[in-house]
Amino acid sequence: MIDHSLPKTYDFKATEQRIYQWWNDHGYFKPTNDPNLPGFDPMRKPFVISIPPPNVTGELHLGHAMFVSMEDLMIRYHRMKGVPTLWVPGADHAGIATQLQIEKALAREGTSREAIGREKFLSRTWQWKEKYGGIITQQIRRLGASCDWERERFTLDNGLSHAVREAFVRLYEKGLIYRGPRLINWSPGLKTAVSDLEVEYSEEPGTLYFFKYVLADSPQEYLPVATTRPETILGDTAVAVHPEDSRYQQFIGRNVIVPILGRQIPVIADEYVDREFGGGALKVTPGHDPNDYEIAMRHDLPIISILDEAARVNQNGGKFQGQDRFEARNNLWEEMRAAGLTLKEQPYTLNIPRSQRGGEIVEPMISTQWFVRIQPLAEAALQAVRDGRIRIVPERFTKVYYNWLENIQDWCISRQLWWGHRIPVWYCAECGGMTSARQDPTSCSHCNSTHIEQDPDVLDTWFSSGLWPFSTLGWPDETPDLNYYYPTTMMETGYDILFFWVARMIMFGLEFTGQVPFSTVYLHGLIRDEHGRKMSKTYGNVIDPLTVMDELGTDALRFTLLVGSTPGNDLNLSIKKVEANRNFANKIWNAGRYVISALDQAPVDPVLDPRWTLPDSWIWARLQTLIRDVERLFQTYQYGEAGRQIYDFFWSDYADWYVEIAKLQLAEGGDRAFYTAYTLVQVLDLSLRMLHPFTPFVTEEIWGHLKRACQAHSPRLAPGNGWPEALILAPWPEPRDSDGWEGTKVSEFSLVQDIVRAVRNLRAEKNVQPGKRIPAIITSEAHAETLRSQSKVIASLAQIDLNSLTIAERLPSKPKGHIALVVGAVEIYLPLAGLVNNSEERTRLEKDLAEVNSQIQRLQTLLTGQFTGKAPPAVVQKEQDKLSQYQGTAEKLRSQLAALDR
Ligand SMILES: [Zn+2]
Repeated sequence: MIDHSLPKTYDFKATEQRIYQWWNDHGYFKPTNDPNLPGFDPMRKPFVISIPPPNVTGELHLGHAMFVSMEDLMIRYHRMKGVPTLWVPGADHAGIATQLQIEKALAREGTSREAIGREKFLSRTWQWKEKYGGIITQQIRRLGASCDWERERFTLDNGLSHAVREAFVRLYEKGLIYRGPRLINWSPGLKTAVSDLEVEYSEEPGTLYFFKYVLADSPQEYLPVATTRPETILGDTAVAVHPEDSRYQQFIGRNVIVPILGRQIPVIADEYVDREFGGGALKVTPGHDPNDYEIAMRHDLPIISILDEAARVNQNGGKFQGQDRFEARNNLWEEMRAAGLTLKEQPYTLNIPRSQRGGEIVEPMISTQWFVRIQPLAEAALQAVRDGRIRIVPERFTKVYYNWLENIQDWCISRQLWWGHRIPVWYCAECGGMTSARQDPTSCSHCNSTHIEQDPDVLDTWFSSGLWPFSTLGWPDETPDLNYYYPTTMMETGYDILFFWVARMIMFGLEFTGQVPFSTVYLHGLIRDEHGRKMSKTYGNVIDPLTVMDELGTDALRFTLLVGSTPGNDLNLSIKKVEANRNFANKIWNAGRYVISALDQAPVDPVLDPRWTLPDSWIWARLQTLIRDVERLFQTYQYGEAGRQIYDFFWSDYADWYVEIAKLQLAEGGDRAFYTAYTLVQVLDLSLRMLHPFTPFVTEEIWGHLKRACQAHSPRLAPGNGWPEALILAPWPEPRDSDGWEGTKVSEFSLVQDIVRAVRNLRAEKNVQPGKRIPAIITSEAHAETLRSQSKVIASLAQIDLNSLTIAERLPSKPKGHIALVVGAVEIYLPLAGLVNNSEERTRLEKDLAEVNSQIQRLQTLLTGQFTGKAPPAVVQKEQDKLSQYQGTAEKLRSQLAALDR
């Protein structure tokens, strides 16, 4: 006997972890064609993804859930296609984020990194990593990620550190890395350079200060200048006007006096100046503004830095030395006011750059840092996309990529941190030379002195993650993995990271391996809340994927993310959608339970060859169309649309229609029952295979039960190539051309569906008791024959009394007291007049109408009151929509009441 005691609803809590463990224990996540094992075939082309490494400090958020779901879908699909598949997992050491974590812990203990020193700090950080570094990858496992965990990497592990050293030294030797003073983003709180990625801009109220730049040779004359940061006046090295500005022609080439400090600086002409801003004259502070820095380069102006690393005024600020930047701002302005140099102040909205980690205002500062000369690398990276070696999906991001790389600036790669890859350069105390080497040197490469000291800074985290696709496969060593799996196939990530990461991998891949690191870049959209707002702690609208998985299951979350996504477009997520997909997981489960229980009604072997019914043929034809469509959609990266089509097929065609009809067919017993069970099993098996990459857990679990039940019942129920070991390895349904018969069967069955729907709608509209069987007359010149063969199906699904169902080519006259429905070339007559009690119906309709009218009244009062002016437009619109819906319902109710009077 088969055990049919499957739980009534899908128990994801009892399933997910067990199934994941089972997959992993059986080695299903490992590639089928491994270059390190015997029997390896180098001619088989693999499908390879390197995971975008999450920060080791990270807590799973929806962005992770999105990329893991999408990449796992791609990996599972290719694995089922029989392609050797490798998904390399790992994590990023996340310089600043991790260092801050440890610094906070030290602060709680009343100490600091400076107090315990570099060595102790690093060993403390490694301890932290060993203890907590696995959390994020565990959370990624919960999403079902079928990564090869034996190939897991960490950006600071030995192999990757070796790769980073090799990459740095090669660039250094080629002259593509240099050290020098440049304007960078400085975080005074963290006391390090930060990348553009680590800076967030926020609009904040501020002040625009207008003041006088007095001419050195004529104290009565001045140029009116405006600034939002008066303290930077201390670092001004010129005042610029537009070369065509008639107001200021006479000033160009003369000198003006820096307020309070008394330094003389020139008035220059530069087309960058916006004549409309302030008074049309621009103070130039190249040491603290990127645009002014560019002007200074063009005019060969001196660059004065006025702030120290804590953003206090330095020795260049005269009497303001030692003051904090904001303190100096007020003090300088007050002194200028006293000296009669100020004009006015006005409120002004500022775009303030704040450090993503520390939150303090980031200061553009001149600082001596290490840079990568990016131009030659960018050229190659542009070419690789232009000539099609790399394809970006969706295509519109190609333009954004070109634009960014064409305007790229040299990349500041040094960070004043301790946690990271230390810069492999040693400075000589005797000759001042620099030594960079693959092995730590013991002496200066120029003078052999042993008085050398390593640069204290570390490399930007993006330097190591830029090497990720090949460093994780063993580069710079010529490992079997590198030879076979590189270049990788797919780089899947959010579009927000196209430049910071993707472009850098392309540049480094081409520079170090001579090959593109991947052939396709697939960019998914960002996840917003149900109203399209960014999810943020401030709004309180953040959805935690771990909670969602706890409450609704991983499959429901995955399906929602995957089906809601289209390449490059943002996705609005609501818990309601996830709940709907939890219901879908249950639908899959229940369909499986039904099919398993239905096997008992089928004989072990049929007597004759199959004679398929119209519904058998129809569901098979629909399935084949679906397989073809899904294949086409997958080939064009339209995974979301593929998921929606499989969902519709499964829920509607299979579960709502075919399973209902199968119940009738099974009841006939004999061969009919066998072939019905056979069709139920085959269609379910193939549907589960297509659903597997979307909802891996519920499909694997129910498929396993199905397989065992079928094996126990009859060998004849097995798929053509037998039952695979596991669904995760089951061959993907291959599309095949249609045989020619499908079109007729599909249109015949569609007619049956249209008739059933029409009768059901009318029954609902007329409030006919569910389950009450009614008589019906159906006429059709062209289809009577087909419809007669389906009379049992129609009667059963439309709840028509089979004995009172007449199907005819035509009628001598229209039947009296019937409601007539028209479905294409078919007419349906239902004697519903007698089934509806007019006075009961009137009472019901009038009661409904009264309720609806009171809602209309309420909303009309609301919408004409103060609410409309005060509430956010989206909320007002929602109430407005409700009102129109109620008005539509009232209209229908009134016309039904009018019909009763006739
Ligand atoms: Zn030396």
